[in-house]
Amino acid sequence: DERSRLAAGRGPGRTADGHSVDLMVNIGSAADLRGVDLDGVTGVGLFRTEFLFLDRKDAPGLDEQVAAYAEVFSLFPEGTVVVRTLDAGADKPLPFLGLPEEPNPALGVRGLRVARDRPHILETQLEAIARAAERATADVWVMAPMVSTPVEAEDFVARARAYGLHTAGVMVEVPAAALRAERLLEVADFLSIGTNDLSQYTLAADRQSGALADLLDPWQPALLQLIGACAAAGGRGGRPVGVCGEAAADPALAPVLVGLGVTKLSMSPRSVPAVRARLAAHERAECEELARLALDAADAAAARAAVLSAGP
Ligand code: PEP
Ligand code: MG
Repeated sequence: DERSRLAAGRGPGRTADGHSVDLMVNIGSAADLRGVDLDGVTGVGLFRTEFLFLDRKDAPGLDEQVAAYAEVFSLFPEGTVVVRTLDAGADKPLPFLGLPEEPNPALGVRGLRVARDRPHILETQLEAIARAAERATADVWVMAPMVSTPVEAEDFVARARAYGLHTAGVMVEVPAAALRAERLLEVADFLSIGTNDLSQYTLAADRQSGALADLLDPWQPALLQLIGACAAAGGRGGRPVGVCGEAAADPALAPVLVGLGVTKLSMSPRSVPAVRARLAAHERAECEELARLALDAADAAAARAAVLSAGP
């Protein structure tokens, strides 16, 4: 009702019947949070660290990285900050990596795959995150981008733990990872679904392609089905499963994601108020019903139409 919607204009994310949903923000540096109202935000759900590595001849050194991470951690003394390790590749080129040009960079050496031949970049970054975390009161989590198999997840988690980073997870951006979510969660503490890449790879549509926007639409039932599989695996294992791609910023999709079992939504800071308001308008059981409607639809447009016509 209107009163609970108004009351939900601030404060933590929750459904109308009080089921709590972590609302978090996506950032590239501390500067992204200047002037942002963080009321009810539990932390950073995606700290994209590429920013620090761009436009330079050499990788940033350990101390420079420690300072940059510490600055972000200090903004959330009682919150959680999920740091994503470097997501570089031929599509996000970094000159000092000396990566060869690839004919199909989206399917090439990117994200965690860069560490196959250049582990020291990941190792230095994990060390810097761990050092910054030691001085912070924020709960610091780390996650790797572009993980495809449980073995890759296990390798990443072991490296993170070796630096004392106790909460280590992986992004789900590749359909193979979503299909094996249960196995990933046997080694990883949490999953964070990157819907920008997961829709690109699931629908076989370049995320930059405006002509294929209908396929890339996060309402695609196939994408929602993969999200649901991840969330169900998280539910069985009692582990958090969040969404940190653009899908998490769509207020109308928020109850659907919660209905699928997602426990955290991380989005650009300006999207938080509308998402919070929409969640507060639905009880948990309604969210589950909306998720069923979306999953039953034939395509993205039909899924959106079915959910919107169900109200409120
Ligand atoms: C994603 O793929 O959804 C994601 C959050 O990562 P990025 O947009 O940085 O690739
Ligand atoms: Mg991605």
